[in-house]
Amino acid sequence: MDADVFDSVLSTVKRFVRDEVIPRESEIEETDDIPAELVKGAAELGLFGYALPEEYGGLGLSIVEDVELAFALGYASPAFRSLFGTNNGIAGQVIVAEGTDEQRARYLPAMASGELLASFALSEPEAGSDAASLLTTAERDGDTYRINGTKRFITNAPRAGLLVVFARTGAPGSGAKGISTFLVEADLPGITVEEHDQKMGQAGSWTADVLFNDVTVPAAARVGEEGQAFRTAMRSLDRGRLHIAAVCVGMADRLLAESVTYAAQREQFGQAIGSFQLIQGMLADSKTEAYAGRTMVRDAAQRFMKGESTTTVAACAKYFCSEMVGRSADRAVQIHGGNGYMRGVPVERMYRDARLFRIYEGTSQIQQIVIARSLLREAR
Ligand SMILES: Cc1cc2nc3c(=O)[nH]c(=O)nc-3n(C[C@H](O)[C@H](O)[C@H](O)COP(=O)(O)OP(=O)(O)OC[C@H]3O[C@@H](n4cnc5c(N)ncnc54)[C@H](O)[C@@H]3O)c2cc1C
Repeated sequence: MDADVFDSVLSTVKRFVRDEVIPRESEIEETDDIPAELVKGAAELGLFGYALPEEYGGLGLSIVEDVELAFALGYASPAFRSLFGTNNGIAGQVIVAEGTDEQRARYLPAMASGELLASFALSEPEAGSDAASLLTTAERDGDTYRINGTKRFITNAPRAGLLVVFARTGAPGSGAKGISTFLVEADLPGITVEEHDQKMGQAGSWTADVLFNDVTVPAAARVGEEGQAFRTAMRSLDRGRLHIAAVCVGMADRLLAESVTYAAQREQFGQAIGSFQLIQGMLADSKTEAYAGRTMVRDAAQRFMKGESTTTVAACAKYFCSEMVGRSADRAVQIHGGNGYMRGVPVERMYRDARLFRIYEGTSQIQQIVIARSLLREAR
């Protein structure tokens, strides 16, 4: 996108986040839902398709632009970002990367406009970090596949019209090489989306189990070659991890802003607590770490744009930034004292919201494994 146009998109989104989303964060938390006006506003800003190609009605942001947008979105309740996160992220990128022209034309315009929400359905009750062990099957029967299995914690599933489903087409135990991807319309007979989960944080963002019982899809619903899906999933996770790392940086900025404001106005011992060096130390640590995270994300995004292999640096960025925002949230609660422990205070909610970032799109331990394996591979 032209730099001036992108600057204008970014400043409009920043304004929307600060003027429209932040004032409604308590409502999002209490109702466990996103107000209709914010959904409409997100659609008008093109947020349901910011990373989808322009020819399909998206904004076509590059990863370098995507992370700048994510810094801005991370500043507000992460449930707002999550609403359109799957369309642009892991679900949308699979269709962009591997979909046929027909599949792209059928789904991407409706996803970009916000009419259609897509979910990425990889995890299962028995297959989380070890996603390649998934048990959902897709059995070929002439011109169709029959899908059976259960998917777990699927973000946006209760609202989704399209499920990007990973299922085993190879023999049982065929591992990563026996998995294929299917574009499954959510209203097909045999699909049950359970009640959405009750989570620790990120109220307003819904996850649910999705059950597939003899769901029949045409062979044309398969994305890419049979058995190649795992590679596709892992590639789309690289970009997804950079985006999540950037969201963490945005949240760290907000936690710091809340902490600085509080430290400047709260008085104890006859002076603002911000004048105490022990409080200053916490503010300085949070600032330093947020700066390190932002720099890391920007560097990794530049490398991704240049076509370098970014699996390691994307894992480094996701690992560092998700752990960093956890530390930042902890300090923010500490700086707020007893108030920081009370419901309704933004840092209390963010403390719970931030916890997820170390778990999904690969836990911290999985990022460590990815990083260390690549170091050892290079050494050999
Ligand atoms: C709110 C939320 C939204 C989600 N959204 C989606 C979604 O949209 N689509 C989707 O497909 N999935 C989604 N997930 C699933 C998510 O990706 C998984 O929860 C995550 O990958 C971890 O899997 P698990 O929960 O089964 O934990 P497990 O894999 O059982 O891990 C448990 C613990 O063991 C550790 N561990 C596992 N293997 C190793 C190892 N080899 N070495 C060291 N430690 C290890 C883990 O790091 C973790 O600490 C979501 C999850 C949540 C909570």
